[in-house]
Amino acid sequence: MAEHESLEFGKADFVLLDNVSLEEFMANLKLRFEKGRIYSYIGEVVVSVNPYRAMNIYGRDTIEQYKGRELYERPPHLFAIADAAYKAMKRRNKDTCIVISGESGAGKTEDMSVTSVCLYRVKNMLLKSNCVLEAFGNAKTNRNDNSSRFGKYMDINFDFKGDPIGGHINNYLLEKVGVKSVFKCIFQLVKGAPDAQLRSLHIQRDPTAYTYIKVGGQIKVFADFKAVTDAMKVIGFTTGEIQTVYKILATILHLGNLKFGSDGDVTLIENSKLVSVLGDLLSTKDENVEKALLYRTVATGRDVIDKQHTHQEASYGRDALAKAIYERLFCWIVGRINDIIEVKNYDARVHGKNTVIGVLDIYGFEIFQNNSFEQFCINYCNEKLQQLFIQLVLKQEQEEYQREGIPWKHIDYFNNQIIVDLVEQQHKGIFAVLDEACMNVGKVTDEMFLQALNGKLAKHAHYTSRKLSPTDKNLEFDRDFRIRHYAGDVAYSVVGFIDKNKDTLFQDFKRLLYNSSNPVLKAMWPEGKLSITEVTKRPLTAATLFKNSMISLVENLASKEPYYVRCIKPNDVKSPLLFEHERCKHQVEYLGLLENVRVRRAGFANRQTYPRFLQRYKMISEFTWPNHDLPSDKEAVKRLLQGCGFEHDVAYGKTKVFIRTPRTIFNLEEQRAEMV
Ligand code: ADP
Ligand code: MG
Repeated sequence: MAEHESLEFGKADFVLLDNVSLEEFMANLKLRFEKGRIYSYIGEVVVSVNPYRAMNIYGRDTIEQYKGRELYERPPHLFAIADAAYKAMKRRNKDTCIVISGESGAGKTEDMSVTSVCLYRVKNMLLKSNCVLEAFGNAKTNRNDNSSRFGKYMDINFDFKGDPIGGHINNYLLEKVGVKSVFKCIFQLVKGAPDAQLRSLHIQRDPTAYTYIKVGGQIKVFADFKAVTDAMKVIGFTTGEIQTVYKILATILHLGNLKFGSDGDVTLIENSKLVSVLGDLLSTKDENVEKALLYRTVATGRDVIDKQHTHQEASYGRDALAKAIYERLFCWIVGRINDIIEVKNYDARVHGKNTVIGVLDIYGFEIFQNNSFEQFCINYCNEKLQQLFIQLVLKQEQEEYQREGIPWKHIDYFNNQIIVDLVEQQHKGIFAVLDEACMNVGKVTDEMFLQALNGKLAKHAHYTSRKLSPTDKNLEFDRDFRIRHYAGDVAYSVVGFIDKNKDTLFQDFKRLLYNSSNPVLKAMWPEGKLSITEVTKRPLTAATLFKNSMISLVENLASKEPYYVRCIKPNDVKSPLLFEHERCKHQVEYLGLLENVRVRRAGFANRQTYPRFLQRYKMISEFTWPNHDLPSDKEAVKRLLQGCGFEHDVAYGKTKVFIRTPRTIFNLEEQRAEMV
């Protein structure tokens, strides 16, 4: 008996539980975790529990053990799923995708990199790009020391032989610096850059000297400045580009330390030495830096005047600038990586079809002490992904059985479409109300936005606020609203919603950066070309951009054959030993895993139309080879399967044959292989 079939480690596939109950599910999950078996299956879905310790299961030799095998032949592993996605792509010439989901700290990013190692085979470039993206996109949060602050979707392209030939990365909403997180690369710079380089950037080797990183607290892992710089070189960033990247990081640190004061009505920069540091780093004249920090050009009718910032406006502008240049830098890095890894000159007429495996690792469901616009977007994203899972795994599956006339007892599940609508619906969804509030620049406050929500959503079952439930003391008047998400209740503070939704960077800064004599920096800010009188179009809001990108992400995933990895976080203290029962149970519940087992158990692993089935297997039966004389393909398939003794493992639908266990398919494949 294979190791993974021994009951000592629990059931490798939850489908094999004696009774499908939450208790049994949890007992099996716990047993496996305690025995160091962090991966399990529900059919083809991987359930992964974060081990919080190094596991010796990711070596090359292990990858080899999984190559070309069927899922149930080996203990559950990500390599098996990666290989299944790969095989499905090769056999059927179909694009596939691997969707990794779970809350923050559940192990998604680790699982993605494990999966990628297996899929890339030898593509060093793709691995290096991960290293760079991690440095620039990850930050410490209170839930995860190395939390991805950006969502990443990566397509890996394969040629007709099945070799990886390139890729493309999409990134989604990056949380801004100085908000709650400090990005790894900034620490790496301060701690790891050589002395001479730091001097040229006017940076001290002391993170506590910088306001922005002081706020975020320390992170333990400082190393790897060199690894990241080397990775950028290997990928093909030029020396000038790499220098600019670090100049931008230094600019951000200096901006954080910039202090404004006033002399009567006049706003001043107190530490004016920093102005020339910024001028140097941004390759622009000091006076231009100073002017952009203290004044704003405004068009009043036909006149253009320079209006001085108040103290408050100047501080606001400074922080907005730091955030915007970081965000722009990140997008630029992703763009450069794409330039390099994208498939060029692939001629399908010569090489056959190029197919794709997509891998998605995106921020998981988040609940902080104080939840703001970013958490709102992140949690909306998780609602969308859950909806996709429901559509593909729970809903379509059951609908197909019904359509095909297979006897079926409906399995209930919570459909979260109602929450997706609450956020994204036109005119009355939360994003729509927010965008409307942002149309009236300067006139609508966050509180007024909340009032508008209360007006529109008073009756919505998943929305509430203090005004709507006056006894709910956990919500503040004029500040909070609460959403009942599929994964739990989250109270959001509206403070900053309006501001974060608008593109608030003064045009003066865009112009400043565009006019830099550093060509790399200039290229990052093309819209700085416009003068104030030419800027007419209102840029799309952050909410609209995010919503659109989520909708197209989901459409893209839905067009591929999906494989799921559902990650579970065993405890909140990053312990390898602790399986917190309630915490885990909650995740199992909201991820819909039990429903997943039920559907899977009652359902069928494989289905094919009758003609397709015959086309593939007709050679294994004398009744069907080379042709059959039965009244229909359906009858022929029945005859064939009876001949093999499989009739108990199949059901016959109107147009398709359904096969319950993968073993049967495997067996048919073997017989076929013997014949051809
Ligand atoms: P997420 O992306 O879901 O927020 P991460 O993948 O960043 O979570 O995982 C959080 C931390 O948990 C990692 O930094 C690592 O310390 C630990 N971890 C997660 N998965 C594994 C694994 N398979 N093996 C060892 N440690 C892991
Ligand atoms: Mg992550």
